Amino acid sequence: MTDQATKIDQDVTTAERIDGKAFAAALRADVAEGAARFQAQAGRQPGLAVVLVGDDPASQVYVKTKMRQAAEAGIASFPHLLPGSTSQAHLLQLIDALNSDDQVDGILVQLPLPAQIEETAVIEAIDPAKDVDGFHPVNVGRLSTGQPALVPCTPLGCLLLLQDRLGDLSGKKAVVVGRSNIVGKPMGQLLLNASCTVTTVHSRTQDLAAECRSADILVVAVGRPEMIDASYIKPGAIVLDVGINRIEMAEGKSRLTGDVDFAAASSVAGAVTPVPGGIGPMTVACLLRNTLSAAQARVAE
Ligand code: NDP
Repeated sequence: MTDQATKIDQDVTTAERIDGKAFAAALRADVAEGAARFQAQAGRQPGLAVVLVGDDPASQVYVKTKMRQAAEAGIASFPHLLPGSTSQAHLLQLIDALNSDDQVDGILVQLPLPAQIEETAVIEAIDPAKDVDGFHPVNVGRLSTGQPALVPCTPLGCLLLLQDRLGDLSGKKAVVVGRSNIVGKPMGQLLLNASCTVTTVHSRTQDLAAECRSADILVVAVGRPEMIDASYIKPGAIVLDVGINRIEMAEGKSRLTGDVDFAAASSVAGAVTPVPGGIGPMTVACLLRNTLSAAQARVAE
């Protein structure tokens, strides 16, 4: 390769790849230490009830990963695998029983739920003190009023990665692409609580690229493969790609990709998370962290 070619290559790939997988492993190790201390004090492991309704293959994979990593961190998991035909009344009964079960510190109901079950009713039935997904309106309200809360795992994972890299986020310009209840809205709230200047953009935003280009911190949670290219990114920005999209390829194979075009983003950004190996592992690690926090808070009551 000529010197010129090497130089161009270096110019094109400037961004650092943020290793969410390694950071998540360190976070799980911290949780494991905390869980061991909890067990020594409380005489039992922190407990996570995992409820899966139906046989959606992606949900089955997520639930299996969560339970395996819980076990590795010294958290007991209590699986409840229910058929897709389960009624809402039956599921609410189970939630009720888990709310009063002293061994259970966290309740995770894997979403999405089958059509006959209303997600809001289920989320609101979970005891807010055991709501390790942070979706209950009490926790949403606490987060938005700056009180201690169980915070949704994916945006919490994003915040921890950002604080690890940047320390104090105060005064940074942050743009969040997407306004879902599970990612975009709580992400915006966490960044605001960290004193960022926050803009949330969505499908009705005019000149999305210009909004995104104003960001020192760009968090993307849309669900559209590689939608964010170099033209959306301010030079040197930190880009967190929450998207998980499965792209079908030839011969029945598929690959995962994010909402950000990683190669294109790497030519402009200061640092970018890859997919896979970025935010995904942080989400599961934060679920375990939330379970430990819920256990500690319940014992301290
Ligand atoms: P939702 O579908 O609930 O929300 C998507 C958001 O993107 C909406 O606010 C929507 O805007 C916005 N949007 C859609 N199209 C555009 C567009 N063309 N321009 C601008 N905004 C647009 O998705 P989620 O928030 O649940 O998830 C987003 C992605 O993150 C998915 O790929 C999902 O799989 C992934 N995910 C990953 C997790 C992880 O652990 N890494 C965890 C959770 C989700 P509007 O509101 O106007 O419709």
